[in-house]
Amino acid sequence: MSITIENVKKQFGSFQALDNISLNIETGELIALLGPSGSGKTSLLRIIAGLENLDEGVILFDGENITEINAKERNIGFVFQHYALFKHMTVFDNVAYGLKVRPRKSRPSKKEIANKVHTLLSLVKLEHFANRFPNQLSGGQRQRVALARALAVEPKVLLLDEPFGALDAKVRKDLRRWLRKMHNEFHVTSIFVTHDQEEALDVADRIVVMNKGRIEQVGTPEDVYDHPNSPFVYDFLGNVNLFKGRLKNGQLVHGNYTGPVDEGFTQNDVEAIGYVRPHDIQIERTAILEDMVPAKIIFIHAIGPIVQIELHRQDVDEYLEAELSKEHFRSLKLQRGEQIYIRPKQLKVFIPEDFSI
Ligand code: ATP
Repeated sequence: MSITIENVKKQFGSFQALDNISLNIETGELIALLGPSGSGKTSLLRIIAGLENLDEGVILFDGENITEINAKERNIGFVFQHYALFKHMTVFDNVAYGLKVRPRKSRPSKKEIANKVHTLLSLVKLEHFANRFPNQLSGGQRQRVALARALAVEPKVLLLDEPFGALDAKVRKDLRRWLRKMHNEFHVTSIFVTHDQEEALDVADRIVVMNKGRIEQVGTPEDVYDHPNSPFVYDFLGNVNLFKGRLKNGQLVHGNYTGPVDEGFTQNDVEAIGYVRPHDIQIERTAILEDMVPAKIIFIHAIGPIVQIELHRQDVDEYLEAELSKEHFRSLKLQRGEQIYIRPKQLKVFIPEDFSI
């Protein structure tokens, strides 16, 4: 089922929660709606579900306008943050529920229902928990039941609102795998809301980055992480160092640093900010390249495969963060307090006045 969202607007009182949202979702895609609190993710999900009315715009399922069709008839499966399992029903009955309440004509036989529930429970590795009640399960297990329950009715669209939000980091990671697995198995068009960048980058086919009721960027995880099209997306999708300087003759000048910028800038002698991810900071013991500037090592966090290094640039009196692989770190034999030389390997420049920053 493909989903098309065209020029959707939604206002709550005088507050514009969604401001002209347009988006195409292909059949079978797993899409993450990612953005800070209040950016409109849940409102958009609820509008797709038919749980919220829109003020303007249309929603199409497989090209058919379903804007006026009510939620029940949209054939959507839901998974919410707070496990909405029926407390008084066993795991089996929870998963079977959507099938059992179907009108007699379309209801599968008891045996068919049992087979389906067992297949789903074995997919989420809970086949031995069929007779338990929700309060006898962990949070992660409950969300797996919720996932199985949502899929039991073979929805055309699966909507998940911060499905793993209430769980601890390790369980969240585990559940991401489940979501991906179930998605691959059922190939149902799925949209999940999250404010967790790592979760979105890890699971989604494409990410829709939202900010203040608008879409900032849509793309694959690689697109949005490696080629953010705005300072907001850069900032929101990971750690970043800022080189706040000026654009002069096609170069960014920031303190003693002068380096090339992408082509396409016609402005000259204007304020410009270079964005650099920590792993794009090159560190050397000597200034082997012309655009290297000195910096002092303030702190080294060497736990795990990636070593984080806090640096201080004396020329501009600013701090930055660099990341190296442990091997590279060892080969450089870096010590706290030492002076080294740095340069951005990759620098994305934005002109503040283009983005009202
Ligand atoms: P969060 O991550 O915090 O859930 P979100 O991106 O999902 O945020 P929404 O829940 O869509 O954001 O809310 C967007 C804005 O609309 C918020 O400022 C919210 O307060 C407002 N809003 C949402 N629902 C209503 C409502 N029923 N009445 C009034 N304002 C609302």
